[in-house]
Amino acid sequence: MTVPSPKTHGSTGSRQRTFVVPVAELLRQPGSRRHVVHAAPIEDLAVSGSRVPAGVDVAVDVVLESVHDGILVTGTIGSSWEGACRRCLEPAHGELSVEVRELCVLDGDEETTYPLDVDRLDLEPIAHDACILALPLAPLCREGCLGLCPECGANRNVERCACPPSPEIRWGTLSLVRDEAPQVQTARGATLPDGVAGETAD
Ligand SMILES: [Zn+2]
Ligand SMILES: [Zn+2]
Repeated sequence: MTVPSPKTHGSTGSRQRTFVVPVAELLRQPGSRRHVVHAAPIEDLAVSGSRVPAGVDVAVDVVLESVHDGILVTGTIGSSWEGACRRCLEPAHGELSVEVRELCVLDGDEETTYPLDVDRLDLEPIAHDACILALPLAPLCREGCLGLCPECGANRNVERCACPPSPEIRWGTLSLVRDEAPQVQTARGATLPDGVAGETAD
């Protein structure tokens, strides 16, 4: 069930390909916890500027905690991304690591919680949403990419053209600061009900 080494390469053909976890026993014992480590590919993980490459694993490392009305899922979702640099258009890539804390309930409000079956929980929607929210919309090949010359189109990372400095260069420097958006977000941002905390009393 668990995969000890959640690397981003799908090589072995025999391991479990879904994120479904049996939870009947967990639900019978409120307050109990279970650590789940698993990795598998998820299809169609893409936003306008980047994507998780096809076939690359999404790694889930979470603790499931049985709470009074469902299961609280807390942990980390990880994978890698690829895209085109917004400044120089060369390939860009990086790693995703997203902290999640989501509540899964039977017949819950799907706006703020994830669905739970009576005896199993599918972690894929949580992993999917976490990746979609963390994928960069405007990726950079590297911090401080110099981009293309607005005059001649030369890639300033690899060549120096003879064009005079232009106001766009100053704008490019400013956008360096704006690109520094944090990548850690929770997926549905569920407002957890009172009494649902990460720690149990005993
Ligand atoms: Zn670049
Ligand atoms: Zn130029």
